[in-house]
Amino acid sequence: MSNQRRLEKSAALAERAELVIPGGVNSSLRTLDPPLAFVRAEGAYVWDADGNKYVDYNGAFGPIILGHGDPRVAELAFAAVQDMDLMGAGVVELEVRLAEKLRELIPSAQKVLFANSGSEATYHAIRVSRAWTGRRKLVKFQGCYHGWHDYTSANVISAVEKLGVTDPTSAGVLPQSLEELIVLRFNDVEQLEKTMMREGQEIAAVILEPIIHTIGCVIPSQEFMVALRRTCTEHGAMLIFDEVVTGFRHDLGGYQAICGVTPDLTTMGKAIANGYPVAALCGRADVMDRFNTRLEGDVAFGGTFNGHPLVMAASLATVELLEADGRAIHRRLYAMGERMRRGLDEITERLGIPARPTSFGSVFVNYFTERPVHNFDDALTNDAELYVGLHRGLIERGFFMIPLNLKRNHLSASHSDDDLDRTLEAAEDVLVDLAARRTRPGGVASAP
Ligand code: PMP
Repeated sequence: MSNQRRLEKSAALAERAELVIPGGVNSSLRTLDPPLAFVRAEGAYVWDADGNKYVDYNGAFGPIILGHGDPRVAELAFAAVQDMDLMGAGVVELEVRLAEKLRELIPSAQKVLFANSGSEATYHAIRVSRAWTGRRKLVKFQGCYHGWHDYTSANVISAVEKLGVTDPTSAGVLPQSLEELIVLRFNDVEQLEKTMMREGQEIAAVILEPIIHTIGCVIPSQEFMVALRRTCTEHGAMLIFDEVVTGFRHDLGGYQAICGVTPDLTTMGKAIANGYPVAALCGRADVMDRFNTRLEGDVAFGGTFNGHPLVMAASLATVELLEADGRAIHRRLYAMGERMRRGLDEITERLGIPARPTSFGSVFVNYFTERPVHNFDDALTNDAELYVGLHRGLIERGFFMIPLNLKRNHLSASHSDDDLDRTLEAAEDVLVDLAARRTRPGGVASAP
């Protein structure tokens, strides 16, 4: 595919959309320039309305782990709703089976509740932590995202002048909710320890993405993970792992199964049902028993669509496939992620472009910086123009990577070695182009 790809039908649909949907999209970060409307997705590929085909590396921001439209997932999901669409009273067996499965797989999961989105899961995790501890304060880390609600709507992708101060991600957030938020630097054990020493008695919970995938791929040190567990235990604060991206994607037991540090509460979403809308909150039985799904519980938990048979069955099918052949899919996902990281490393090295290709399992990014990225400050040194320029150039050549700074790529079991080889070839082509334009005054720096 070349720069000449036709996009008339996408443009026409985007125009119609803008008249009735603010901005023409249903979630922030979905806006594409030029606009693209997708009409079909299968395996590793997606097609836009004008018939252009792309290898998809966005994977809907993470859910697609098996590949788009996995037939086994679709078969079980649709069979489930043929038996029963939604009763919304009592429990169905699929809910019990999936909760049992998660308890078996996730170290922290003694009990499980289902919701529809990651935001709901993190919201409930924080609320029950406040109820359990009788405290208000919440610790989060600069660069982590935990959903759209007021509890954590600050300090995600902040401008450099906003580091160290409260930086709301939205207008209309209740200021009092952000007053209870303490924002710390990821991987900074000393700052964590000092904060817990000083304010630990007032802190209800510490919440984090165990790998910060919101700003690409920021891997925690083991020392940091151990310090999180130790300080939370010492000061009676809940430790919440937000595994909405990492859960199932890096391991069926989440990142906690990899690092051996068990939080009190865990949130899961995205990849647990390969594209069907479901999330889970799991954790210590005593804490989970505070929810008013038990008659004696005093922490509200509700949702008309919670535990919907369609998504319960989709998730059970996803687990079944990921467990098959001694978890062969995960081995392949890890090998592919490594291949992309190495490939990008070789290319940027050969071209003399300062870069830090980074991956964990099936997630990879190509930071353009000399610095290894251990926290948000390091991520800020990434050259955003090159980062977005690479993604844009790849889209023009038929490889869809979301054209946003610091946003990550996801591999699925459907990507082939040939897909990866072609992607790396195209990436080299784009980078040669970007490097050439960069050396000319008024080149990349002034380009959109
Ligand atoms: N936590 C993390 C780590 C996420 O990446 C996201 C979504 N990007 C959420 C929570 C919120 O999930 P949802 O969009 O399903 O509400």
